[in-house]
Amino acid sequence: MAGVSKNARTTSGTQKFFCPCGGEVKMRSIFSSGKMKHHAECEKCKRQERKPKDFR
Ligand SMILES: [Zn+2]
Repeated sequence: MAGVSKNARTTSGTQKFFCPCGGEVKMRSIFSSGKMKHHAECEKCKRQERKPKDFR
């Protein structure tokens, strides 16, 4: 196949975030009260934030 689109890359879901402590921040999904909730958690210090960006 020729002419592969350069815009076809998916950038969602592959980003990595790191906590100031050096641990990797992982997204977690919890199902509570009939709703899916997402939060970010550091693997190392177990710090939790609503969004991975909040670790900066
Ligand atoms: Zn941490």
